Amino acid sequence: MTTVNGNFLKFPGVYLFQEIAHQVAAFKKTAPEKRVISLGIGDVTQPLAPAVIRALHSAVDEMGNAATFRGYGPEQGYAFLREAIAKNDYQDRGIKVDASEIFVSDGAKSDVGSIQELFSNDAVIAVTDPVYPVYVDSNVIAGRAGDYVNGKWSNIVYLPCTKANGFVPEFPKVRPDVIYLCYPNNPTGTVLTRDALKAWVDYARREGSVILYDSAYEAYITEPGVPHSIYEIEGAREVAIEFRSFSKTAGFTGLRCAYVVVPEELKISDGKGGQVALKPLWSRRNGTKYNGCPYIVQRAAEAVYSEEGKQEIRQTIGIYQKNAAVMHEGLTRMGLEVIGGKNAPYLWVATPEGTDSWGFFHKVLENAAVVCTPGVGFGAAGEGYVRMTAFGSPADTVEALERLAKI
Ligand code: PLP
Repeated sequence: MTTVNGNFLKFPGVYLFQEIAHQVAAFKKTAPEKRVISLGIGDVTQPLAPAVIRALHSAVDEMGNAATFRGYGPEQGYAFLREAIAKNDYQDRGIKVDASEIFVSDGAKSDVGSIQELFSNDAVIAVTDPVYPVYVDSNVIAGRAGDYVNGKWSNIVYLPCTKANGFVPEFPKVRPDVIYLCYPNNPTGTVLTRDALKAWVDYARREGSVILYDSAYEAYITEPGVPHSIYEIEGAREVAIEFRSFSKTAGFTGLRCAYVVVPEELKISDGKGGQVALKPLWSRRNGTKYNGCPYIVQRAAEAVYSEEGKQEIRQTIGIYQKNAAVMHEGLTRMGLEVIGGKNAPYLWVATPEGTDSWGFFHKVLENAAVVCTPGVGFGAAGEGYVRMTAFGSPADTVEALERLAKI
């Protein structure tokens, strides 16, 4: 018989969000009259911007006409989109990134999950704890994580982000080859100051490590001085790959579009005493495994950068930011300790004394019919917290807070 990739069998139990769905379904059976409000999963609720819808319609029409029909597109993405990204997200903000360094994709999940293919099988991986699970799980499948023992993978270097260190990861004792950083952070909603991010860039340069910088929530930064891109930091082009997504910026969770920046200067060891640039390798990998994001979706993403598009997406982001502010205030008034929510759509809420993550999850589900995400599902250091998201409708968000206040 054919043998499976045994790494799949190392995963413990079921996926966090499946477990939550299972618990919610069980609750609904016992209380069918209650309307459950989810502050749990990180999907958006507001519709796409009118400028995006117009671009979609017009691209669909192009596909129905032989003169304007498009088949396979360039693997790296159409130049019109790569140029709009380079100009609006980087050059207009004084950051050096060229359109040729941008790789358009169907989502940051695929990108952050696949990028580990560039590194050797024995590369040492570091992640923050708590963490967006894709970084860890993709390395488990690749065989780099070791074994799952007492809630941790034996070969992964964990960088705890706790109240004690102000949710800023400290340098590890073991030198990692690859460091995943996500800011604004999912799940804690925290950000790194420029100095803290610079310290990590300097560390990576000193140690010869690569930083994989996921800034899927960049659009939610409100405070001045918080870096929007790792390339604002001097030297980052030599050590960092950046990931962005249209999912939370422009409501593309169902449309699917994102991009990766791989700078020309980024080189790692070839294992034979020389060096190799990562940009051509990522291009090679995509050429083999990927045929590009759909043309109509790339036109929709381009419309995000039009004047109307920019204004319209700002309005929608404003709705979620207002939800986050209302939640921060309401939960704080209830006496809960609340982290994040200022530069991110996520709030990291400390569970009251004597209640663990899952205990608090059950308490709010059973007594308020509100769903949150147990922090321990994002890593051992997430115990004692739950994650709440600001992506609900404003009415649901307010109602969820009223219900929580009652309990
Ligand atoms: N990165 C982080 C940190 C996320 O939280 C998410 C989605 O929840 C993603 C990436 C995936 O985004 P996309 O919808 O572009 O696949």
